[in-house]
Amino acid sequence: MNVHAVTATTAAPIHPDGEIDSLFSSHRRSAVENRTKFTLKARLVMLSRLKATMKTREDEIIRALYTDFRKPESEVRLTELFPVYQEISHARRHLRSWLRPHRVHGSLGMFGIAAEVRYQAKGVCLIISPWNYPVNLSFGPLVSALAAGNTAIIKPSELTPATSALIRDIVEQTFPRDLVAVCEGDVQVSQALLDLPFDHIFFTGSPQVGKIVMAAAAKHLTSVTLELGGKSPTIVDSTANIEQAARKIVWGKFANNGQTCIAPDHVYVARDQAPALIDALRLEIRRVYGQTDGQQKNGPDYCRIVNRRHFERLTALADDATSRGATVLEGGDRDPGQNYFSPTILGGTTPQMAISQEEIFGPVLPIIEYDDISVVVDAINAGPKPLAIYVFSNDAAVREDIILSTSSGGVCVNNNVVQFLHPNLPFGGVNNSGIGTAHGFYGFKAFSHERAVLRDKFSVLRLLFPPYTPAVKKLINLIVRFLG
Ligand code: NAD
Repeated sequence: MNVHAVTATTAAPIHPDGEIDSLFSSHRRSAVENRTKFTLKARLVMLSRLKATMKTREDEIIRALYTDFRKPESEVRLTELFPVYQEISHARRHLRSWLRPHRVHGSLGMFGIAAEVRYQAKGVCLIISPWNYPVNLSFGPLVSALAAGNTAIIKPSELTPATSALIRDIVEQTFPRDLVAVCEGDVQVSQALLDLPFDHIFFTGSPQVGKIVMAAAAKHLTSVTLELGGKSPTIVDSTANIEQAARKIVWGKFANNGQTCIAPDHVYVARDQAPALIDALRLEIRRVYGQTDGQQKNGPDYCRIVNRRHFERLTALADDATSRGATVLEGGDRDPGQNYFSPTILGGTTPQMAISQEEIFGPVLPIIEYDDISVVVDAINAGPKPLAIYVFSNDAAVREDIILSTSSGGVCVNNNVVQFLHPNLPFGGVNNSGIGTAHGFYGFKAFSHERAVLRDKFSVLRLLFPPYTPAVKKLINLIVRFLG
């Protein structure tokens, strides 16, 4: 296949029965051919083509995401398009240096040996993406997969059908099918794909499904990147700037209707700051989304829960909390007819409530007051490691202490969510919140095999080979003693 001469195709959707197997076989062939053909130049062309197609279809992307869950246009631009464009520009700018084999120095025992590390494409990669940022989380990993020289099959989420269909269309317009293909469908399609011996699987979704993906990958010893979720806590200490914290938390929590993997799940606030923070959050919610329930519901800047199942899941979490003593401090308005759930703040939640145990993944923000920061740290350490921890504090010692005494995918100080957008930071979780990292060089690395290439120029290692005469033994002993 000539990767420079990519032509647009308008093939029919790919369905599970048998077609997935033949698609996979075509990808295997093309992955082997691409080892020599997928040059730096070819990869740069691929990346530019993706950006060009997305640019011409921006209006359709915006419409599809509105159809699926009324995502506001500006949120689409900032959180779906911009991260992919940035990923492409960044990869295009740095790919030459990422691909350059880098020489590594040896020890004295490696005298006469040249060694280098080369990043080689893994081969055929599977990208399984979620519904909450379907464009960003399908095309973002695709950029890294292509930069690393792979072929890719994308399985977007069935919960955002308009966007998933458009993703397929964009891919088919841009790439030959044996280079990038999209398999739309539900769990059944996902599982049919997971049966195949991919060279790498990049999965974004829930920890529960992440375990299924990893178990399936284990059957073929396929490497995985798992970008998962969990409960990302926010801490607001007594030195924090409350107005600033409230502004940022409201944005981080209620953008995309709280359906963001790195949204602040709940807030721990120093008891003396709690009334001020709650007031500031309430004011900010009303300033941003509207003063009344009606204004909020009809406002243009607030999207919807993706479907009835998730709406009911959130309703059950909130109702369980209030039936067991939690209070609604703000919001609480809902309309099942349009999966509308207003920005909601809860007080008085306890660790026993379901809302304190499950990832909320919606616009409900529990505020938990604390007297002693070490109790908060213990509570965080008692749970699964979060994807992110947010610390609002103007006390450097407190911030450093929290960073040192906890573990999480990332930490963001005096802000939230923006760590996703930094092109030079690894993005990912740890254990329950994920395995491996994405974005920029880290994404490129995730889809690459770090290949060791060693060349013997004039090494003297042969002097250590058997037969182990007294002279050889002496030499080996000297080496172990002085070079080990
Ligand atoms: P999900 O795990 O339900 O689904 C993700 C993908 O897996 C979908 O394409 C789906 O079709 C597929 N899938 C679902 N069940 C499957 C099964 N049994 N076998 C094989 N495939 C299956 O996740 P979701 O509801 O789409 O997304 C929400 C979750 O994703 C949250 O936990 C959120 O925190 C997480 N998330 C993480 C990140 C990140 O970057 N770390 C980003 C976005 C979302």
